Amino acid sequence: MQVISTKDQFRRSLDGARLAGHTVGLVPTMGALHAGHISLIDAARRDCDVVALTIFVNPLQFAAGEDLSAYPRPLERDLELAEAAGVSVVFTPTDAEMYPKPTATSVHVDGLTALMEGAARPSHFDGVTTVVTKLFNLAGPCRAYFGEKDFQQLAVVTRMAADLDQPVEVIACPIVRESDGLALSSRNIYLSAEDRAAAVVLSRSLEHGAEMILGGERDARVVAAKLSEFVGEEPRAQLEYAEVVDAASLVPIGDLRSGTTVRLIMTVRFGTTRLLDNRGVVVP
Ligand code: AMP
Repeated sequence: MQVISTKDQFRRSLDGARLAGHTVGLVPTMGALHAGHISLIDAARRDCDVVALTIFVNPLQFAAGEDLSAYPRPLERDLELAEAAGVSVVFTPTDAEMYPKPTATSVHVDGLTALMEGAARPSHFDGVTTVVTKLFNLAGPCRAYFGEKDFQQLAVVTRMAADLDQPVEVIACPIVRESDGLALSSRNIYLSAEDRAAAVVLSRSLEHGAEMILGGERDARVVAAKLSEFVGEEPRAQLEYAEVVDAASLVPIGDLRSGTTVRLIMTVRFGTTRLLDNRGVVVP
């Protein structure tokens, strides 16, 4: 496994792989790898000859007061996990390597970023789309693997790649969960034992919401209100938002029409730790 910290070497490594006739799978992460990240690597390995993992805690997508400096950075362990998972190339640039000058250019995706995480963290998605564009430009033609865990991010990046004709096919990968249903996240380590136990409220609420729809409920507002109510019953949890949205446009919907694919999406805070989860349902 090659471990690379300069943009130039990263670009040359993947250009070389393609020249040798290999297909490239790109897995962008912020490190602190867990089984969710490994599932993206596994999917890339199934589809592509060479898997490139990027580990970069992107300052541009954190606002002042967020957890940028506290974000876990267990690089040695990440490299061991990456090697065991069959990664060929790891790109771990420093902040100065990625942003030698303060960036004057920013990539903004309209519409899809208006609500939910976009409303809660106003500069977040521009930071994501700008760094992902840089990574796509460095990596070159490839497939790029993103988790449904960050469903809005996946939609935003997919739209960006299409709108800008980036030579990248964005592949969606399902959410990996703990045995009690909690979606794996690098931020779960921030949770106290009590909050960790209480955090099952996210996946349970989403399951109840999905069951309501599958059981015949046709008013999405009733489902969204029920999600809030479920979370409200857990005193340690503070709901930021719970939405039932069209899975393609991410617009909140009213009537649940038969055959529509919807996504139940929520963010819940435990103290200062924000946990995101979501679930897809096809309206019967
Ligand atoms: P992060 O390191 O948190 O920025 O995540 C890097 C990638 O891993 C993103 O595409 C995430 O959506 C994905 N990811 C994070 N957690 C999970 C999970 N539990 N299941 C599937 N994918 C995940």
